[in-house]
Amino acid sequence: MGERARREILPGLAAALGLILLAAALVFFTSRPRALSPSPMETPIATHYPSPTPAPLRVGIVSGHWKYDGGAMCPDGTLEVDINYQIAIGVVKLLKEKGYEVDLLAEFDPLLEGYEADALVSLHSDSCIPGVSGFKAARAWNSFIPEVEDRLVACLYEEYGRVTGLHPHQWSITPDMHGYHVFGEVAPETPAVIIEMGFMADDAELLGHRQDTVAQGVVAGIECFLEGSKPL
Ligand SMILES: [Zn+2]
Repeated sequence: MGERARREILPGLAAALGLILLAAALVFFTSRPRALSPSPMETPIATHYPSPTPAPLRVGIVSGHWKYDGGAMCPDGTLEVDINYQIAIGVVKLLKEKGYEVDLLAEFDPLLEGYEADALVSLHSDSCIPGVSGFKAARAWNSFIPEVEDRLVACLYEEYGRVTGLHPHQWSITPDMHGYHVFGEVAPETPAVIIEMGFMADDAELLGHRQDTVAQGVVAGIECFLEGSKPL
């Protein structure tokens, strides 16, 4: 190639080469995966936000006499332990649906020793003596937190009575109720109450056939206490 030809061809070649490089660069950059999308190999940056909802409240439900004895008995063979258990199952289900942590406990459950919860209610039914009707609730006579437990008792009287239509039968509260063994087992800070949900004879229709209502009454009492909406 002569000197003259080189001077004429080389600029053209350089221009062509430049175009090719430009095209290649365009293809390269536009066909690359977006650098912004994180590859699966990248560790995502953890972002911690404070939980907007507090930890769920815990409720203990003692199914009276469960795994221990039959409790009171009617002439037809109906046992208190069975009534209590059927209602306890309903109470636990309702509380869980409302977002509470719930423990279903037996009468002498090993978990009761030092048990910590926001509320504990032991469910019992009264004797099968005919001619008496009503419910009652009680806390420990030597309560560590009398004001708190009195509020739970008051809530149960108010709400259980309202939902079930049953009247209180307070004058039949026995020293047994106030000295109930569970009160001495749970942690002193756990508000614990026993409720006799009705008499097995005259309140049989409610206790045996409207157990959903009974469970709703118990849950309404517990919620009233936990929500703190019920001043004494
Ligand atoms: Zn009982």
